[in-house]
Amino acid sequence: MKTIYGNQTLLASLGNMALRKRSPQSIIFCGDKGCGKKTIAAYYAAQLMCSDLTETGAPCGKCRNCKLVFSGTHPDITYVPTSGKSETYSVKTIRAVKQDAFVRPNNNSDIKVYIMADCQNLSQEVQNTMLKIIEEPPEYCCFIFTAVNRYEFLPTILSRCVTFSVMPCTEQEAAAALAEESDFSPDEIRRAVGCFHGNIGLCTQYVVDEGLRKKVDLTKRLADSIIRKDEYRLNADVYSIGSGKDDLRTVMSMLDNLMRDCAVLSEMSEPKLTGCCHDAAKRLAGTISPGQASSIHYAARDAWNAIERNVSAPVVMAALCADIISIIS
Ligand SMILES: [Zn+2]
Repeated sequence: MKTIYGNQTLLASLGNMALRKRSPQSIIFCGDKGCGKKTIAAYYAAQLMCSDLTETGAPCGKCRNCKLVFSGTHPDITYVPTSGKSETYSVKTIRAVKQDAFVRPNNNSDIKVYIMADCQNLSQEVQNTMLKIIEEPPEYCCFIFTAVNRYEFLPTILSRCVTFSVMPCTEQEAAAALAEESDFSPDEIRRAVGCFHGNIGLCTQYVVDEGLRKKVDLTKRLADSIIRKDEYRLNADVYSIGSGKDDLRTVMSMLDNLMRDCAVLSEMSEPKLTGCCHDAAKRLAGTISPGQASSIHYAARDAWNAIERNVSAPVVMAALCADIISIIS
C-alpha cells in the first residue's frame, strides 16, 4: 500500500465515512496534476472493499481485497479507458460502463468500482450519459472521478457527487517521500522539491523526464523575455512549445504560477511561493507591477480557454505574446 503524504483532513473524512458505512457512491477527487489523485482513488477503492478496516477507517492493506486493489488487479475494479487525441471519455465507453454496471459483481467482493481518472474536455453528451448511471446506480456500484478542476463537470453531475480536494503535501514530506520511494540522489531531490514543492508527482517527473526540465527552463526564458520586453524572443520561445495541448497546459500553468509568485512577492516580504522558478519570479517582481502580473495571468487564462475551445494554438499563443508585451509596455 502506497503511503499517502499530507491530506490528513481528507483521509480523516474518508475514514469517518467508511466506519459509519456512509461512503458516497459517486465521489470526485480534484487537484493539480501530480498531487496524488490516482493514489487517493485507489485508496478509496480499497477502503470500499477492505474486509478489515483499521480503527481510523483506513484500508488494512493486508487482506485479499486490499492486495488486489493495490496491485491494480482487482477484478471488480474497472479503470475506464479514455480514447481519442484529446484523451477523454467517449459516449460509447460510458454506455459500456452503464451496461456493465448492471451485471452484479461475482468475484471477490460484493461491490463494483469504476475509476474514471483525469476527467477533462467531457462533452455534454458524455456527461448526460454519466448522469444516467450515477443518478440511480445499482446499490453495489461506486464511481470515482478525478479531475484537475471540479468545474470540468456539469452542475447536475456535481450535485450527485461528493467532491474532495487533494492538496500537495509540504516540501519536507515530498523530500521524505522521494528519499523513501526512489533512488534519486539528495541533490536531485533538492532541485526537484525546489521547483515543484509538495507535488510529489511533478517532483518525480522533474527528475526522470528531461522534457519537463526543458519546460521549466523555457518558463525561465519566458520570464527573461518579459523582463527585457523582447517580443521576438518571447514569440520564438512560445512557438517552440509546439501545439500539443499537454505541453501548452504545462507551460501555461508554470507561467501562471510564476505570475502569482511575482504578484505576491511585490506585496509580502516572505511569501510562500508556489511556482517552479523562484529566482525568475524575484527578478520579474523587480520589473513589473503586481497589476501587470495579474493582467498577464488573466491573458494567459483567456488564451488557455481559447485553446480548450479548439481555437488554433499558434494563433492564440501569438496573440498572447502581443498581449503580454502590450501589458508591460
Ligand atoms: Zn484490507
